[in-house]
Amino acid sequence: MRKRVFGSIFLTALITLLLTVSLLLIAVHSGLSHDMRTRLANECSYIAAAIGGDDWQELGRIGSIYADRITLVGTDGAVLYDNEGDVTSMENHAARPEIAEALARGVGESSRLSDTLSEQTYYYALRLDGGMVLRVASTADSALGALSTASPWIVLVILLALLVAALLASWLTHVFLEPIVTLDLHAPLKNDAYDELSPLLHRMDKQNRKIASQLDELKRRQAEFDDVTARMDEGLVLFSAGGDILFANRAVCALFPEDSAAGGYMTLCRDPEYIRVVEEALGGKSAHGRMEKDGRVYSLSASSVAEGGQGHAAVLFVVDITERDQAERQRQEFTANVSHELKTPLTSIMGYAEIMENGIVKAEDIAPFAGKIRAEARRLLTLIEDIIRLSQLDEGGDPAPFEPVELAALCGTVRDRLQHKAAEHQVTLRVAGAPAEVSGQRRTLEQMVFNLADNAIAYNKPGGSVLLETGTQDGAPFVRVSDTGIGIAPADQQRVFERFYRVDKSHSKMTGGTGLGLSIVKHGAALHHAEIALQSTPGEGTTITLRFTQG
Ligand code: ATP
Ligand code: MG
Repeated sequence: MRKRVFGSIFLTALITLLLTVSLLLIAVHSGLSHDMRTRLANECSYIAAAIGGDDWQELGRIGSIYADRITLVGTDGAVLYDNEGDVTSMENHAARPEIAEALARGVGESSRLSDTLSEQTYYYALRLDGGMVLRVASTADSALGALSTASPWIVLVILLALLVAALLASWLTHVFLEPIVTLDLHAPLKNDAYDELSPLLHRMDKQNRKIASQLDELKRRQAEFDDVTARMDEGLVLFSAGGDILFANRAVCALFPEDSAAGGYMTLCRDPEYIRVVEEALGGKSAHGRMEKDGRVYSLSASSVAEGGQGHAAVLFVVDITERDQAERQRQEFTANVSHELKTPLTSIMGYAEIMENGIVKAEDIAPFAGKIRAEARRLLTLIEDIIRLSQLDEGGDPAPFEPVELAALCGTVRDRLQHKAAEHQVTLRVAGAPAEVSGQRRTLEQMVFNLADNAIAYNKPGGSVLLETGTQDGAPFVRVSDTGIGIAPADQQRVFERFYRVDKSHSKMTGGTGLGLSIVKHGAALHHAEIALQSTPGEGTTITLRFTQG
């Protein structure tokens, strides 16, 4: 732009200069030639008056001192006198335009350029009284001649003028463009520039405000996105079509702390399942997979996002499904266990019934057989009751309301219920401690203490003892069941709370256990926000404490 403005100004100055010089030259030259013609006409009249018709002597005198050329031509055109040439060698002048004109009309004038065009001769002819024609001629530089003599000066002046024009053009360019060059584009309306720029600046201001608001909106959305993804427990990774990691949220960084979440997808994780899922998504297909890392199970699901013919970007979700996976497995195991546990007593019942049906049994044996059938049926019923209880607790609990329950009294009830069994096992059952009240479901709490006490008797030794203790410790009510029984090996201590888990299957079978008792205790404890603490030494005994941390 600077070049164009400079060029325009300079060109204008150049054209103006050349035009001015040319016009000036033409004007000066035409003025000069006009003066010349007037002078010749005057001089011609003076000479004509001085020679008065045919005073040859006077003509000769004037001719000798006169600077210009004087010619006298006869009526026939023959040259009679010339102060600059030899009359005899001169041709007839009748055809010369100025002579012919003077002969015809009294006066005549003309001008002729020299062969080189550098000089111009002016002629003025006057017819004398006798019919002869007096002609005066003067030679001056032609316009071209004048130009050529003056040209070095003209060139110098033109060069000077061009220099001044160039300087002026440069300064003007600077002055014109300064307000445009120094425009503050961030605050267009604050500029004090040309009025013609006003619509442009207003438009710019509008665009600036629009861009600023869009930018704000984008920032807000980005902040929202960052906030949401940072709070997500699920891992979220975005990959470009080239497989580079564009974004990885906090959960992913926590999941792969030793790996880099920048660069290609391989830098994040080398698990074959992960690589397969990501590569399939980058290839344009949604993919799902499962991956195990540090003992936890993750589900991977990747979706493909078409990038307008540029391949496919991908979004990967990583969800920790360890608990879900375990629960699923437990449910499957539970179903298998339940079927198995139900089958055993039913098979026994079927067996006894068949024998009785076939009449093989003696009349006196029928009663014991019926007793066995009843015992198996009882076992079946207990099992089904336990399963129903467990599934009730599992599904969010028994709808029974919470009420104040006094634990010492509850232990008394349990002792009464188990007194008979304790006697059978030759175990002493005692209740001790201070009263302690909790808010809970009476039936569930009683069942929990019953199951603990039942185990304490069942897995005891003859002559052993069981103590049901209640009280408050650090503001939290507790129930403690301790026995002097066979104890639980450390490896089994956590597992005994699993469904159907029995340390010694044959012994348990003997005691009629199904492995659901402690599982019910665990679920009941969760429902009542109680902590379970188990201390056990094999061969010495076991102590299980339920601490009610919330009332
Ligand atoms: P049930 O469902 O009839 O109670 P169970 O007693 O076998 O059957 P749980 O009460 O869940 O099942 O106990 C699980 C296992 O833990 C038992 O089989 C037993 O091996 C072990 N156990 C539980 N309590 C004690 C204890 N006080 N002393 C020693 N072992 C115990
Ligand atoms: Mg039990």
